[in-house]
Amino acid sequence: MSESRALDTSSPQESFSRLTSGPDTAPESSGASILLVDDKPELLNSLYQLITLHGYEADAALGGQAALDHLEQKDYDVVLLDLIMPGVSGHDVLEHAAAKKLSCKIIVVSGDSSFSGVKHALHCGAFDFVKKPYEAGELVATMETALKQCELESKNEVMEGKLKESEELHRFIVNSSPDLVYMLDRNGCFDFVNNRVESLLGFSKDELLGKHYSEIVDEDQLELARNVFNERRTGARAATNVELRLKSRLARRGPRLFQAQSVWMELTAMGIYSDDNERTRENFQGTYGTARDISERKEAQEVINFQAYHDLLTHLPNRALLKDRLSLAIAHARRNKRKLAVMFLDLDRFKLVNDTLGHSMGDRLLKAVANRLQSCLRRGDTLARYGGDEFTLLLPEVRTRDDVVVIAGKILDRLSGPFVIDGHELFVGASIGIALYPEAGETEEALIQNSDIAMYHVKTRGKNGYQFFSDEMNHRFSTRLSLERELRNGLAQGELSVFYQPQVSLETGSIVGVEALVRWQHPERGIVEPADFLPMAEETGLITQIDEHVQQVAFSDVASWRRNGLGDIRVSVNLSAPQLEQDDFVDRFIASLRGSGLDPEGVKLEITENILMQDMEVVVPKLRELRRLGLRIAIDDFGTGYSSLSYLQQFPINTLKIDRSFVGDIRADESDASIVNAIVAMARGLKLDLIAEGVENRTQLKYLRSQGCSEVQGYIFSRPVPADEVKALIADNPYGSLVAAKQPEAEPAL
Ligand code: C2E
Ligand code: CA
Ligand code: CA
Repeated sequence: MSESRALDTSSPQESFSRLTSGPDTAPESSGASILLVDDKPELLNSLYQLITLHGYEADAALGGQAALDHLEQKDYDVVLLDLIMPGVSGHDVLEHAAAKKLSCKIIVVSGDSSFSGVKHALHCGAFDFVKKPYEAGELVATMETALKQCELESKNEVMEGKLKESEELHRFIVNSSPDLVYMLDRNGCFDFVNNRVESLLGFSKDELLGKHYSEIVDEDQLELARNVFNERRTGARAATNVELRLKSRLARRGPRLFQAQSVWMELTAMGIYSDDNERTRENFQGTYGTARDISERKEAQEVINFQAYHDLLTHLPNRALLKDRLSLAIAHARRNKRKLAVMFLDLDRFKLVNDTLGHSMGDRLLKAVANRLQSCLRRGDTLARYGGDEFTLLLPEVRTRDDVVVIAGKILDRLSGPFVIDGHELFVGASIGIALYPEAGETEEALIQNSDIAMYHVKTRGKNGYQFFSDEMNHRFSTRLSLERELRNGLAQGELSVFYQPQVSLETGSIVGVEALVRWQHPERGIVEPADFLPMAEETGLITQIDEHVQQVAFSDVASWRRNGLGDIRVSVNLSAPQLEQDDFVDRFIASLRGSGLDPEGVKLEITENILMQDMEVVVPKLRELRRLGLRIAIDDFGTGYSSLSYLQQFPINTLKIDRSFVGDIRADESDASIVNAIVAMARGLKLDLIAEGVENRTQLKYLRSQGCSEVQGYIFSRPVPADEVKALIADNPYGSLVAAKQPEAEPAL
């Protein structure tokens, strides 16, 4: 031990430099690190000479303890170790190296060639054994083998490290990919999914592994999914960018218009083969691919699509979508020789609600109407909002006219109940025009246009009903434009005349007034009813000219009757909104009246409730002025609008005219007269006169009288007739007996 200390005084480095003072001929160092251990200085030295002679550098340790010190301080590739040494033996060094898991290759160089010595040495991890006295060539060869092994091992280690790094990198890339990465086995079951599946679909990885892909595909997409997930092609022919909906367990952010529990994905898929050069069925291993979340893009697309094809208020299909579906339905009907129906539906009293209660109320009413309409539909029918208060209904499956009649009836029935919105009870009816394919048209345009014409027909004929289009309708006025042209012409040619309908006092039975009603004496068509041309006249503003004409004629007729001793007959004239809205309305009206020589007391203005409500600030002052001049004012069609008592009190009116629809409701059993009763009570409270129109039978007459109604007008006395005829009626005064209280109850023949 002391010996070893004497030789190997300090660091391995020093002993090395001392020992390397050998011949300069040594070949260049190989870079391997070698430790030589022996307790005999001369043996150590000769070993050193041998090794350095072969071009290696080496450290020398004199004895076991020196060896341990060296091993402590440096990693060696190869150690040439003597076994039998005093103190720390070669066996101790071997054990130490094994315990410390030193990577150096230890070659035992020993005189002890006993079996147990060698066995122990090898057991402790010695690389090889060279017997002393050694043969130089053998020793060097053994050492070089050990060095080679070292080199291989260290290369391998570097490789392994690199491999591990790259595998980790790949795993990292796959798992942190924004896309879902998957692998299916040959049966379509998940072999691999990356972590992304959890945040995308809400399934855990473990849950999906081994499951068939169909478990995460939306039911109605299975067919498409089969094509993608069974992809066996590779390379450029593999499936890319296939859009597919996958099931999701996650609640989606924000409100979604569409499917809540699925996610739109864009998929790629490609076949995997055990031998890429032989893509056979047997070699098919499964499918690999990625899936990307495209729901945001899809949602944006869906919203855009929805907006392009739907009405945003009611969410119903719009015109464009209707036309689309209609053209498909026509093609289908043509192929199968079937019928189909288009219904054009226009709400009857919508404008009134909009004008008097405001647009937001109108909007809510439209939504409510749309809901009710939808409850009348069957699967496959399309209800569209065509515009404003117009709806179109496509019935692609009808066998007979009666099928359509049933639906039209159902719609009218559903719409007849009140809509309660914001505390208001609103009533809307509908006018429905129906065009059947193929008889009423074979193209979308024709069917829509003809259903519109049929609807217009209903509108002008009392509304709230339905009509099928017939060719004869088309002949009336082929277009609204030609109607307008002919009316202008008719006005200029003096084709517009005035008829009068008597108004009878229930106290005296005599005619106390007449209502002036316009008639169009068309040279070819005969008498055209007001309902057929006034709506258009109102839209185009022509109505003002018509009114002024009727008023002028009526004033001068009645003035001349008065002059001829027919008594103080009054004349009622109808005013339209456009006429009232003229800035100089009052002046013009008075001028016309003065021109005729008729006393203002002889004139009553009939204004509908909704005209009054529409523009109160403008209309009311004008009416006040006319009242001051002695004219009387009646609210026409009373009860059909939405005016409230508080409004009524502000109007400068004299008379309420009960609408003929309520009079029509009066029956022998008095069941439906509640509205009439209410109007009577209102008139009494406001100290207004009452007149009832549309009285057709004695039941109605008797009831109205019993309620205290003072004047009546209706077919029971006379239809509107030309001036000469009404003049004769006034002179004859024929209604005394009809009006007298005690009369037999028989209905008069009309
Ligand atoms: P209105 O002012 O409510 O006129 C009463 C309508 O009821 C008249 O229809 C009249 O013929 C009808 N009628 C009278 N008695 C009965 C009856 O017992 N049973 C039934 N079912 N109906 C009866 P007409 O003459 O066709 O006029 C329709 C509407 O056209 C009028 O309703 C009025 O709003 C408008 N109108 C008529 N002439 C003029 C006019 O010169 N100027 C304006 N602005 N409107 C007019
Ligand atoms: Ca009237
Ligand atoms: Ca009326």
